[in-house]
Parts: sequence; structure tokens; C-alpha cells
Amino acid sequence: MHNATIKSLSAELAAGRLSSVEVTRHFLRRINTLSKIYNCFITVDEEKSLAAAGAADALRAAGRAQPLTGIPIAQKDIFCAKGWLTTCGSRMLSNFVSPYDAHVVERLDAAGAVNIGKTNMDEFAMGSSNETSYYGPVRNPWNIETVPGGSSGGSAAAVAARLAPGAIGTDTGGSIRQPAALTGISGLKPTYGVVSRYGMIAFASSLDQGGPMARSAEDLALLLNVLAGFDARDSTSLDRPAEDYTRDLARPIAGLRIGLPKEFFAAGAAPEVEKAVGEAIGHLRKLGCETVEVSLPNMALSVPVYYVLAPAEASSNLARFDGVRYGYRAPEYGDLLEMYKKTRAEGFGAEVKRRILIGTYVLSHGYYDAYYIRAQKLRRLIAQDFSEAFGKCDLIMGPTSPSSAFKLGEKAGDPVQMYLSDIYTIAVNLAGLPGMSIPCGFDSRGLPVGLQVIGNYFGEARMLNAAHQYQLVTDWHDRAPPGIEIQ
Ligand code: GLN
Repeated sequence: MHNATIKSLSAELAAGRLSSVEVTRHFLRRINTLSKIYNCFITVDEEKSLAAAGAADALRAAGRAQPLTGIPIAQKDIFCAKGWLTTCGSRMLSNFVSPYDAHVVERLDAAGAVNIGKTNMDEFAMGSSNETSYYGPVRNPWNIETVPGGSSGGSAAAVAARLAPGAIGTDTGGSIRQPAALTGISGLKPTYGVVSRYGMIAFASSLDQGGPMARSAEDLALLLNVLAGFDARDSTSLDRPAEDYTRDLARPIAGLRIGLPKEFFAAGAAPEVEKAVGEAIGHLRKLGCETVEVSLPNMALSVPVYYVLAPAEASSNLARFDGVRYGYRAPEYGDLLEMYKKTRAEGFGAEVKRRILIGTYVLSHGYYDAYYIRAQKLRRLIAQDFSEAFGKCDLIMGPTSPSSAFKLGEKAGDPVQMYLSDIYTIAVNLAGLPGMSIPCGFDSRGLPVGLQVIGNYFGEARMLNAAHQYQLVTDWHDRAPPGIEIQ
């Protein structure tokens, strides 16, 4: 049952061959046994999940089922879920039980999906390896000595290990796509504004976007149908007509123009990553796609630009964690100022503190023009590069990550090396474009490689179309990590 996709589980539920309670019990049993190895869940609550499954079965019996009704979905612990511990991977929120639901959680609930647990993540979504979590690192199901990527590493590992058929994550600079690539699953970051950020704990608000993670493009489309939608409580949520993201899945892709940015292939990626990506492009050519060379001349600046803007926004967003209203408070202090200082010193980990320091610095008087304003101007140039490229092509493709999964600890002591993990993904967030990663092969160590597919604004249906057509003729997305076959 755990090897089934969302689409096929949904068909089993609709045919009455399975109930949601049976499906949910099955995944809970697997989580009980396997999540100890991968450390991919922070909170599991069998009672709550089974109650939701019972409600889903009742909804179905009443004839009101939708495609996701009764399907267990894991939620990154950055999404506020009413009555659930919601930690954001931080000691600062280690005692925070959310009094309300994020918009996407409301939508999943309304669709009858079952919250199967809250997944581990880098602290406040800052990281590319899941090693910054207060709850310890997540291990990659393909090789437990390696990282699953980050910051949505818990969601990625849970889907890869078949502990949930789908999950939700967030992507500020690559945190859905990079862990999807490193764990051999599919993940999509929508166009900025398509998914509401309400109740999604803020890291860098102008970049943060929630999205689906699952095994196939088809499943991502089903999930995105539920997650996307206008929400007046997020001022950047877009009020536009609802789309059916499955509508183009079956369309032939002959004639589709794929842009290959020369900067993506100009060195930097591991040879085995380039090879797998090259073979995937070859496959798409066989399906009738055309390839054109495009250029993103300012892409090389995207990592430095991001590491000015994201910390600047984070330093402001994280000012709210002061020990007064909610979350962690230092147990011992003299006066109010000391309470603030000790709370933040004890509540935040090293990477979060580094970002707050950088952010405060680049926003300070005298440096604001030199760093923050310049980064904003470069951000515009990066977005313009994409606009020009999309004049010549329908989709842009390249690697998701420069390497396959790296060893735990390998980059933990070197922030710049870690930041470079997102060299191919960050520009997409800076431009607000949609991007996805799908599995496209393995390296010689048996670790998955991801193909990145970037669309123009609101190009999700077209991206999903190309990804689905590719998945119809390849089976990388169906491969399962070794050692997960317990019943
Ligand atoms: N790895 C990047 C960072 O550390 C991106 C994280 C994300 O997308 N949330 O900021």
C-alpha cells in the first residue's frame, strides 16, 4: 500500500477497497518503525490522525469526497496546525501549540486530507541539509550517512521512505526542490503569491512560498489544486481564478521549447549530475521537444543577493520571538532586557543567529545603500534575465542541485559551501517564478539526481505537463530506497 501514489490510493478509496482509517493506520505503523532511523518527524499524534481519517471516511460515505479525501499528508513543522505542536525546528518554539491553522492547513482539512504528522526541518527553514534543526539531523533514506537536503528535509525523507504518500514544504531559496532532488522525489515551488503564506512561519517573506512534495508530477498537481487559492489574510496572495493543475497532464509535448541556460551547464555541477540531466534532456528531445540555448547573465550573483535580502527580512521577521508573548523564555534573568537577551541567546541556534546578525548589519544606517539597495537592484536584473530567456522558450531546465546528497557534517562547518547548494534554485525565488524538481537518475553511489524545471509566471500546469510526460517514459520516480520494505 505504501508504494501507491496519491492518485492510486485515491482510486482505491473511491472504489471502497480501502478506508482512510486503514490507510492511515498503515502509514502510522511505518512511521513508528522507520522514522526513528530517519528522524523525519518531530510530532506524530495517532489519535488526531485517526480521528481525521474517520472523519474522511464519513465524508466519503456522505458522497462528499474529493481526490485528497482520506489521504495522509505530512506537514513541514513550519505550518501552524491548530492543537499541534508547531516548532519550526527551533528551541524557540519547542513549546508552541498553535491556536490556529495556516491557510494551506485549512484547505487540506477542507479537502478531507489527513495530517499524518509534522516533519523535521532546518531551524526556521535556514539550511540546505537539515542539520540546523533543534531536533537533530534528518537522514537520507537512500543512505543514512548522507543528508536529505533542506530545509524541507523531513518532508522529503518521509515521502522517499514511503512514510507518507505526499507532504507539504516551503521554498525560500530551494527548500522544496533541493531536498526533493537529494531524496529522489518530486517537488514544486509555485509562482510567488499562488499559495497563501498565512500561518506559515515567516523566514523571508518576499521569497517564502509553500508547495507540494510527492512521488510524481501527477500527485503534485492533485496537491496543488488544494493548496493554491486566494487568501485575504496574506497581502501578497493573488486573487485570480482557480486553476485545475491536472488539466494539461496528458497533452503531448512535441514542439515544446526547452531553454538551457549556458550558466547552468558551464561547470560547477558534479559530472554525474550533468550526465543524468543531459540524458533527461535527451529523453525530452525524443518526445519532440526542441532545445534552445538561453543565458541568465546575472545568475552568478543570485547567491550573494539572496544572502543580503533573506537575512535582512529574517532579522525583521524573527524580532517577534522575544520570550514575552509565546514560545521559549529563559528560565533565569534579572531585568526585562536580560530576559530578552537570554531568551534569544538560548532559543536560537547558531545559523539563525548568523542570519540575524547579517540581516541587522545590511539594514543598518550606512550599509543599507551599499548592500540592501544594491541587492534589490540586482534582484530586478535577475528577474529581467528570466523574462528575456522566456522570450525564446517555454520552460527552462537544468540541474536542481550541484551535487547528489553529501555526507552528514561534510559542509556543516563551512556556511559558504552550504549556501552554494542552492546555486541553481535561488534565482527562481528572487524572480518569483515557479520551479520544480523531478528525479532523473542516480549517481555511481546509488544516490538520486534531480532535474529542475522552471516555468514562466503561472506556468505550473505546463511544467507539470512536461514532468508527467517524462515520468510516463521513465521510472526514476518509482524507485524506492533500500531497506524500507517493512509492512
Ligand atoms: N538553503 C537556503 C537557506 O538556507 C534556502 C532555504 C529555504 O528555501 N528555506 O536559506
